[in-house]
Amino acid sequence: MTASTQIICRDCNNAFIYTDAERDFRDSRGLTRPELCPECRGKERARRNGDLILLYQRADALDPFLISGETPGNGRNHRVRDTRQQYTTTCAACGSETSVPFVPRGERPVYCRSCYNARKGR
Ligand SMILES: [Zn+2]
Ligand SMILES: [Zn+2]
Repeated sequence: MTASTQIICRDCNNAFIYTDAERDFRDSRGLTRPELCPECRGKERARRNGDLILLYQRADALDPFLISGETPGNGRNHRVRDTRQQYTTTCAACGSETSVPFVPRGERPVYCRSCYNARKGR
């Protein structure tokens, strides 16, 4: 038997099916009939729970310098914590050129990959 109900969405006025299974599910959680279609419910939920995530996604798309703190003209190279950014430096052990994913400040020696692995003793 299929005793599903049709409900008109409060937001977009689209009719959607309210199934028995969903009613049982909501009953078990003490929830009433939904007033929004699944799509609008998704948006509503995203608004409530994902404000921060959405804000970040949107800000990144529209307004890159809101997050990076840079003016747009400065380009990507100066973005904070861009993991793809590599800095060229000299290996402290063998003296060959190597690149590292952080800014070498000279506080601690930087090694190329093979010297680093050798020092770790594999
Ligand atoms: Zn809707
Ligand atoms: Zn080396």
